[in-house]
Parts: sequence; C-alpha cells; structure tokens
Amino acid sequence: MRIDPKVYNRRYDRRIVQDLKEEEKKLRCVIGSGWYRAEVEHPKEWERLRQVIAEIKSRCEIECEVCGKHAYEMWATLGLDKVYCSEHVPRGVMLIRVQDRIGGNDVPVPYVVGNGSVEFRYDDVIMWAEPSMYGVNGQMVSAGYMVYFCWVEHGRRIWKLWESEVDRLRRGKIEEVMVEIATKWKAGVRRCSGCGKEMKLEEVAGYPLFAGINCHECWERHCEETEEQRRTGKVCSMCGKPWNDCYC
Ligand SMILES: [Zn+2]
Ligand SMILES: [Zn+2]
Ligand SMILES: [Zn+2]
Repeated sequence: MRIDPKVYNRRYDRRIVQDLKEEEKKLRCVIGSGWYRAEVEHPKEWERLRQVIAEIKSRCEIECEVCGKHAYEMWATLGLDKVYCSEHVPRGVMLIRVQDRIGGNDVPVPYVVGNGSVEFRYDDVIMWAEPSMYGVNGQMVSAGYMVYFCWVEHGRRIWKLWESEVDRLRRGKIEEVMVEIATKWKAGVRRCSGCGKEMKLEEVAGYPLFAGINCHECWERHCEETEEQRRTGKVCSMCGKPWNDCYC
C-alpha cells in the first residue's frame, strides 16, 4: 500500500523538493568553501541559499496528525500511515520513533540511535531495539547485534528485562512483550533494576542512579556500597559525593 506523503506534510512534493535540492547543490558550488566571505562575495546566492534551505525544511518536515505541528521527536505507527508529536501519541498503539523529515522514499525513516537501535513505544513503555535485519515497511534499519533496552515512565525508569523476554524479543515478539510490560506497569507492578524481582509499588525501597528502582535487598546493598565508597574516598572529584550518588 502506497501512502500519500501529504499525510506527513501538505506542502510536500517530491519533484519540487528534488529541484530545490539540485538548486541548493549548485548554489553551494558557487559559494564554495569560503563561507565566512560568502555574504559579501556572493550576496545573491547567499540569500537564495537561505531561502532554498528554509523552503526544503518547510516542505519536508513531518507534522503531527493531531496538532499539525512539527517537533524534533516524532512517532509513527508501524504502517507509517500516521505520525504524531510526543505530546499527541495515542495510547494502545505500537509506534516507532522516526526522523523529523520525510525520507527519500516519501515516507518517514526510523530514527536510529547508537549501533542501529530503533525506538519503539507503547503507552509508557519504550524499547530500544537493535534488531538484526529488522525493517519497517521496507525501511531497512540495520544488521545489528540484537540488544534491547526497556524503559518505562516515558524513559525515566529502567525496566530490567528477563532473559525469557529477551529471547522472545529476538524472535520478533516486540509488540507482545511491550504490551505485557505496559499492562504490568499499569497494574502497579514494579521490577527491581538490580535483581529483576517483581514487586508492588509500596514495596519499592529506593531509586538508585541512574533511572534505577530497587527492592529492599538491592537497596540495602546499594546503600552499603555507597557508604563503603564514602569511607574509602571513592568520591567524585567534582561534587564530592560517592560515585553511586554522583550526577556529574
Ligand atoms: Zn501534536
Ligand atoms: Zn532487587
Ligand atoms: Zn559528581
């Protein structure tokens, strides 16, 4: 199914954009490498180049289905037929983060972090997946190592994945695993970032850096370790706090 790219931006027109990009290339050739002199030596080309760049931007920027605005962080449905800013992402729908511009194939291109990781989102759960040969609508992402990081609370807290979950993720069950986690999270289940044990919200003993969440035993151990660091001078040279507590 071919999607009309105007759903991403009403002003998008592949031919016009291609012409503009050609023009941009020519202007850059004329201006050459003397950028700091360009405004004086090639005032006309300089002015036109700025216009062309702005025109390409305004025609290619992806706009939110709900508010029509462009944002740096944009999310698309897996079919790439709808895009949202992070303020207007719908609940109960699997989404993938996309770059903020329409790609060369007239569709949004997945946003890639690190070694080809893509970012999936389902409600409050975010999964960084480095999938091997995984593609969305024919958009090849990467042949990576298959590493997964999971976050909840819009990425503020880590969700330690169990080996069994990682196995399923590797077999492509990303949505299934994410929906399960979102359901648990909503029901008040929390998972210790130290040992992976699940607990009720009221059983959470502490929140270690960074983005951690601990059961009673792991928090005790964390506090002892921090105390040990304080005693033995394993402290940050910037803030003076034990390494465990340092944000620097
Ligand atoms: Zn929006
Ligand atoms: Zn624990
Ligand atoms: Zn510090």
